[in-house]
Amino acid sequence: MIAHAAVDLGAIARNAATLAELVAPARVAAVVKANAYGHGLVEVARALARTCARLCVYSLEEAIVLREAEIDAPIHVLGPVPPGDLDAAHAADVALTLWDRGLYARQVASVARRRGRRFTIHAKVDTGVVRLGLDAGDAPDALQRYAATPEFALAGAFTHLAAAEELDSSFTDEQLARFLAATRELGPGVERHAAATAAAMLWPRTRLDTVRIGIGLYGIWPSVETEALMRVRGVELAPALTWRTRIAAMHEIDAGTTVGYGRTWQAPRRSRIATLPIGYAEGLPRAAGNAAHVLVRGARVALVGRVCMNMAFADVTGVAGAAPGDDVTLIGRDGREEILAADLAAACGTIGYELVARLPAHVPRTYAAPVS
Ligand SMILES: *Cc1c(COP(=O)(O)O)cnc(C)c1O
Repeated sequence: MIAHAAVDLGAIARNAATLAELVAPARVAAVVKANAYGHGLVEVARALARTCARLCVYSLEEAIVLREAEIDAPIHVLGPVPPGDLDAAHAADVALTLWDRGLYARQVASVARRRGRRFTIHAKVDTGVVRLGLDAGDAPDALQRYAATPEFALAGAFTHLAAAEELDSSFTDEQLARFLAATRELGPGVERHAAATAAAMLWPRTRLDTVRIGIGLYGIWPSVETEALMRVRGVELAPALTWRTRIAAMHEIDAGTTVGYGRTWQAPRRSRIATLPIGYAEGLPRAAGNAAHVLVRGARVALVGRVCMNMAFADVTGVAGAAPGDDVTLIGRDGREEILAADLAAACGTIGYELVARLPAHVPRTYAAPVS
């Protein structure tokens, strides 16, 4: 075993419960895209399927994996589904995201008609991310047309916020106002949703009927602002991921010896260097070299030299007895020390989201079951 991820499904279930309590009476839709933010799509979805309002994925392929795993919870596909895949989407009984006003909407209707059952639709309104969605100005008319299309079951209308991680963003209020105006004519049976984790925490008025929670489920704060505010309110999240490898080889080197490609690190004294069998192909960002720390025998040690494709180096000079086979914790706890996904991400110049989403699917994962 070269690297390994241990996922605490109990922590994920507790985070879901914590967030559900925070946002009630709004409901929680669980976002499990990107392999459940690297935590494992099917296992995480199973742990949440019965307690969350629905599961949100990005692609139809992810939805089909869930259906093949016999998860029958409602699934909303947030991203685009190509016209050629609409039959498969209908067969998988997923809710589509719709923002089209022309040919594509007609194709969706025609697949539903041919297959003899309505297509569940969440209409998307773009209020300021400029990504997917109807222009807010066109939305009222398009939404009326969706509502009047007999082949559509218009279940929801939603938008996505651009700057909700910030405490003092008037833009969030502007987006919310645009969204409420665009959806004013919708009947009460159509669910409205706008908030992801950060907005659900910082902007209670964006919670509406449902919130779409991703990062918070995994015990990772969307931003330092959200963490600070929620901690003051007594809201805690439990990190769900432990990511470890083991020392593959040890080297005693003299002062002045350089380590790794480009010779970017030079031993300031006689040093003991551990070779770690993990590199950027395994999800450790190249930027971690000479920047991040890992835990060995309960001690925090520096990654030195450049991270290679499949290997990296740690300076374990200060760790008595460090030897091949020792556990190396990249994310998680070892004794009294802990490295959070956000810590490793910050050292690499990125965010927790990117770090966990890029954890390769081929890294073996083990799961601690939720206590039920
Ligand atoms: C990814 C995503 C979410 C979840 O965002 P978090 O910040 O991880 O909670 C919600 N809505 C949409 C449309 C998304 O793409």
